[in-house]
Amino acid sequence: MQQFGGCLCGAIRYRITGRLGALVYCHCEQCRRAQGVGFAANLPVAIAHFRIDRGREFLAGYRSSPKKTRFFCVCCGSAIYSYLDAAESVRIRAGTLDAGDDIVPTAHIYSGSKAPWLTITDRLKRYPKREPERP
Ligand SMILES: [Zn+2]
Ligand SMILES: [Zn+2]
Repeated sequence: MQQFGGCLCGAIRYRITGRLGALVYCHCEQCRRAQGVGFAANLPVAIAHFRIDRGREFLAGYRSSPKKTRFFCVCCGSAIYSYLDAAESVRIRAGTLDAGDDIVPTAHIYSGSKAPWLTITDRLKRYPKREPERP
């Protein structure tokens, strides 16, 4: 199964070839600020299964914490994915996927720092910080 995605302006296009991880909604302050939204929808994908097809030259990284880089398009500002140094996966911003089929949301993380104006109304698991199973 392949999934395709890209940024708002279309300069960056990527593909995912392989299993998608469990989608989490992240309410941490960094994700909120980086994306300008109430929460980010983050999807782990093995690096081996993630490929930039076009526009690598438009991809810039911002070091948001000592080991974490958030990659975005320099033309349109779309957040594309984040990467923790030495990790074996990237965390795709699921809103950049064209279709997003077969994605199953599993939890809200960092619910302890969620925006006061946002109410979580589903029955997914909630963790005040990161999910316990995450390495
Ligand atoms: Zn773009
Ligand atoms: Zn976050």
